[in-house]
This record gives sequence, C-alpha cells and structure tokens, in this order.
Amino acid sequence: MRIGFGWDSHEFRSGVPLTIGGVTLPHAQGLAGHSDGDVLLHALTDALLGAVAAGDIGGFFPPSDPKWKGADSAIFLEEALKQVRKAGYSVANIDSTLILAAPKIGPHAKAIQAQVAKLVGISPGQVGIKAKTPEGMGTDHAAIAHVAVLLEKATRQRKRGALGRRKARKHSTRR
Ligand SMILES: [Zn+2]
Repeated sequence: MRIGFGWDSHEFRSGVPLTIGGVTLPHAQGLAGHSDGDVLLHALTDALLGAVAAGDIGGFFPPSDPKWKGADSAIFLEEALKQVRKAGYSVANIDSTLILAAPKIGPHAKAIQAQVAKLVGISPGQVGIKAKTPEGMGTDHAAIAHVAVLLEKATRQRKRGALGRRKARKHSTRR
C-alpha cells in the first residue's frame, strides 16, 4: 500500500467559471490559474503522483508552458493515474477537504463526489468530499484543497512476457 497527500490553492477572480472536482459551480467568480484552476483536481493529481514518488504536477505540466493555459485539469489527473498504473497500483480511496468562504460546497458535494469518482474510475463510496470555511485564516479570496489518497497493489496483472512469467514462477516458489 502507498499513501499520498496533495495540497493546492487558487485565487478567486471575476470573469472565469468556477470548476471544482470537474464540476462547474454557479458562482460570480472562478479560480485563477494557468489551467482551469480546479484546485481539487490539482491537489488530487499531486496526491496520486506523491503516492508513487513520481514528482509533482508542475514537473509534468509546467505553468510556464502556454499549452496548459485554460486546460481541463482532467488531463493532469489522467497523467497521474497513468503513473499510478505504471507503478502497479490502483486507487483504494480518496479523502479531501476544501477550504473556501463561498460558494457553499454542501449542495454540490454529491455531484463533485460522483465526478471525481468517474474521472478516477472508482465508486463514489471511495471518494470523501468535505468542506470548511476559512475561519480566522484571512483566505476568503482563495480556495484551498487538501487531498489524501491510499493506493493498493493492482490485482489485475497485465499480460506478462516470457521473462515476466519466469520471474513470477521464481517468485511463487520463493513463497
Ligand atoms: Zn492548482
């Protein structure tokens, strides 16, 4: 098993849509960033990459690269999931906390949970979505996300080559 943790923050800005967990929420302001500013998917991407020690989101998608301007953050998440699969793991569960003054996440939590589950390829019951307001933190102008992930060894083995089969036999006799 592997554990991963990710954190992200983005500033609210007028004139951009608010996308959290791949869901566009009705709000007067959105989150500024080089991509779509999806603070939850960015923290999740970092948590997944961290869990397999594969670096971070900035290493794969440099903010300086104009290619990622306004990009759908699901692209970043897909790369992180690819790294997880490459390392031989699958996602056991995800837990998250959003910290933002507005809008209220409660009415949208189920939709966000369902979308994150769909993007990761797990069931909604494996995705925790929690939200708090930033009491006494002075961060009302920003949205913050904390995400923890647990990975387990992938059970479905990929088709092995001859070498892989030999290794597997050796491994099984050792046990
Ligand atoms: Zn971000």
